[in-house]
Amino acid sequence: MSDSQHDQKTKAEQLRGKLLAAWDKTRVQAARAWGKTQVQAARVWEKTKLVAAAGWSKSRVCFERARVAVARHPVSPLLYVTVLSVAIGAIVFNGMYSRAYVLNIDGEEVGVIANEAELDAIVSDVETRVADILGEEYDYDAEITLTPAYTVAGEVSDTDAVAETLFANVGALVDAYAISVDGYEIGYALSEEALEEMLDEIAQPYLTENTVSYEFAEEIAIYPMQVPANTEFDLEVLKSTLTSFEVEEAKYVIERGDTFNAIAYSLDMTPAQLKELNPDVEANTLFVGQELVIQQAVPYLSVITVANETYEEVIESPVEYIETPDLYVGNTSVKEQGSDGLAEVSAQVTYLNGVEQERTVTSTTTVQEATTTYMYKGTTPKPVTASKGYFIWPVSGSITSYYGGRYIFGGYDFHLGLDIACPYGTTIKAADGGTVTYAGWQGSYGMLVIITHDNGMKTYYAHNSSLLVSVGDKVYQGQAIARAGMTGSATGYHCHFEVRVNGASVNPLNYL
Ligand SMILES: [Zn+2]
Repeated sequence: MSDSQHDQKTKAEQLRGKLLAAWDKTRVQAARAWGKTQVQAARVWEKTKLVAAAGWSKSRVCFERARVAVARHPVSPLLYVTVLSVAIGAIVFNGMYSRAYVLNIDGEEVGVIANEAELDAIVSDVETRVADILGEEYDYDAEITLTPAYTVAGEVSDTDAVAETLFANVGALVDAYAISVDGYEIGYALSEEALEEMLDEIAQPYLTENTVSYEFAEEIAIYPMQVPANTEFDLEVLKSTLTSFEVEEAKYVIERGDTFNAIAYSLDMTPAQLKELNPDVEANTLFVGQELVIQQAVPYLSVITVANETYEEVIESPVEYIETPDLYVGNTSVKEQGSDGLAEVSAQVTYLNGVEQERTVTSTTTVQEATTTYMYKGTTPKPVTASKGYFIWPVSGSITSYYGGRYIFGGYDFHLGLDIACPYGTTIKAADGGTVTYAGWQGSYGMLVIITHDNGMKTYYAHNSSLLVSVGDKVYQGQAIARAGMTGSATGYHCHFEVRVNGASVNPLNYL
């Protein structure tokens, strides 16, 4: 058995458990109702027996009276002849006919039976069958009358046929419709429409004005069948079971930035619960690509909807490149910015429980054409990022503060670099080739770039308004690395330039 088959089996078993609980309740209710009926039925039955008995003894009395009358009176020849012919008639009658009972159920004649014992056997047979179907004791409840009669010998009804009629009269089985999910019968209703309506209601939350069709991912069948009369047709119970969420195990692949606790909380679990599912995983040593066992809530029935959707989509401006030796290879600049266009798109979109699975574009109409963007593309080979061993000025401008001790912000301070004034946004260049080892905010430096050069020297570029490089970037001498600003502790737009040897600051002017 595959995992998914096993899951489905478990799913069906769980559902069956729920339904059985509901079923037991129904039985208890039915049993109570039946207790009452039983008493009534017993009364009717006693009455019937009495009526039948009275009828029989009446006819016997009549017969005996006739004989008595014959015995008491002097016999006239005529009377003798008469009595004789009656007697002969009786003998012939007794030979041709036998005593029997016409059986009436609720006023309907259903057959002729030989005796009361036969009726008892039939009723007991029907009661056993009905009890088996209903899963509870059952006493036959109908108005039964037996009318004494004579019938042609051997012409009593077949008891099986009579039993069948009585059984049908009970109505132990009723016509209904069953619904199955993936082959498991899960409920019943009196009509096919009721079940279909219920399915519509289950799908309803996933339907939008654009939905053209829906179906369930599971195989659902509705078919006619006879069910016990005491079946409770509670579609609300069935519906709530089918719309309930169940927990399924799934795999989660660790992505960059994930933490064990964040994953747990995003799944509405505590880290301890997640740990229980992953006993061998160390929360502090997650690695990208590692798999975690997680639990997911999935609806019992999955709704697949298909929608026809129309929406606007941006047509990106196509780009044409013009080569130029004025730029390094890999660098570009805009010559003429084109504009994006607009298209009206129609698509058929398939969703599973509201989550898009597939999108097929059926038509695209251009509302507004895009225009071409022309860009320059560099052809000059990029300078090597290897350090040249000397520094160029990161920016040109007047020096507003030199390296060394100074009075600033109301106190003495040792200034670790050079402050070179320049307008806001001026390009700050790498003094020599190297590797960016810091790019970000650092206290009073504000937005800072540190480049480590091949000989281990470091250059600092502080107070920038924005950075153009990231840690790890290889940069060449003169490459734009930042834009000037006054972030951190600064009183005007400038570049604070520092040179460090073995971690200690030195006077940059000695290297420029
Ligand atoms: Zn400074």
